[in-house]
Amino acid sequence: MLNIGCHLSVSNGFENMGKQALELGGNTFQFFTRNPRGGKTKEIDKNDTEALIILMKNNNFSKILAHAPYTLNPCSANERTREFAFETMEDDLHRMEYLPYNMYNFHPGSHVGQGVEKGIEMIAQLLNKVMYEEMTTTVLLETMAGKGSEVGSKFEELRAIIDRADFSDKLGVCLDTCHVFDGGYDIRGNLENVLEHFDKVIGLKRLKALHLNDSKNPLGSHKDRHEKIGEGYIGLEAFKNIVTHPVLKDLPCFLETPNELDGYAREIALLKSF
Ligand code: FE
Ligand code: FE
Ligand code: ZN
Repeated sequence: MLNIGCHLSVSNGFENMGKQALELGGNTFQFFTRNPRGGKTKEIDKNDTEALIILMKNNNFSKILAHAPYTLNPCSANERTREFAFETMEDDLHRMEYLPYNMYNFHPGSHVGQGVEKGIEMIAQLLNKVMYEEMTTTVLLETMAGKGSEVGSKFEELRAIIDRADFSDKLGVCLDTCHVFDGGYDIRGNLENVLEHFDKVIGLKRLKALHLNDSKNPLGSHKDRHEKIGEGYIGLEAFKNIVTHPVLKDLPCFLETPNELDGYAREIALLKSF
């Protein structure tokens, strides 16, 4: 059975997100760890996280995915922004231990003109400061669309970050279908080739999650505009191939399509019907 869910709002609490995921027909979900502007986050309510853990066990949930704020940029040229990235990720990774053995996804960052090499170096440095031996969370680097100076739109860049990380055994990759298509990888016309290339460069064992989004723009656009499943340039047939592919079909999938909850429920049902 397909492991699928969508992005939900953490403001209703953890157990409620689990209930919501079930109502939508899913068995996992993604949430932002905090509001994108940063600032103080609520103390974790241990009763709430424990209730979610029980709900997940009773309902065959796959791993859930926490998403770092998209304003987090480990390779900013601005020191205060880099500090925010450090403080946020350090705090997030400690909070994640209330929900052990799940996953934490982040956008590697934008090098803002400092160069990809420098960007990769700074991203790895941050990971080496915030990751630690005892943590149970798997940290995922998200494949990016290559908008502006984003690092991580090429598999080689993600590989280079992983190679420089001290705790690379706890690192994986989240493949965003809209982003890779935007980055020029033709998952519509030649999924097999893309997966082969991913395997050669990064290794398929690192692939831990999928973001399922169609794209408002054609292959290689570097724009990062998500579209509803089947309504964009990737198209329904490609999503059918993706969720039924032998090496992808057991991965947890997360929708980040422009939808309200009822739209998510329809997409979840559609993808499960494959
Ligand atoms: Fe993302
Ligand atoms: Fe994404
Ligand atoms: Zn995106």
